[in-house]
Amino acid sequence: MQVLTGRCLCEGVEYRIEGELGPIYNCHCSRCRRWHGAAFRTRASIRSSQFTWVKGTELLRTYHSSEFTAKHFCGVCGSSLVSTYDNDPGRMSIPLGGLDQAPANRPEGHFFVGSKAPWHDIADDLPQHDTWPGSRADVRKTSGEA
Ligand SMILES: [Zn+2]
Ligand SMILES: [Zn+2]
Repeated sequence: MQVLTGRCLCEGVEYRIEGELGPIYNCHCSRCRRWHGAAFRTRASIRSSQFTWVKGTELLRTYHSSEFTAKHFCGVCGSSLVSTYDNDPGRMSIPLGGLDQAPANRPEGHFFVGSKAPWHDIADDLPQHDTWPGSRADVRKTSGEA
């Protein structure tokens, strides 16, 4: 079984993920771009049961970016850590930038390309979706965003 670890920039917060990550996507929506200060956010869905905080929970701060979506970040260095969903507590989303190791799977596509940064050109051949692809539209209505 794959075990991944990750941490924030100041290394005050560390976490551990057991088992393979769910599907990985690059999200180009304006919220992800702002939250990460980057052209896009590379994120994976995981089951909450896979995730453990190793240290630094006292440093965590939370921002609700929508009614149900909570963004957790380090209160010292500001690193974006995980998203949780009040209406779907069994699921979490993590940005891959904080990981110490390479996950077994790779990004499968681009979300919200319709609102991507105009100064960023996507240079790979992965599928591109203007918003959420296919059935994920229903997920977005209830969860707000990736
Ligand atoms: Zn930190
Ligand atoms: Zn997004």
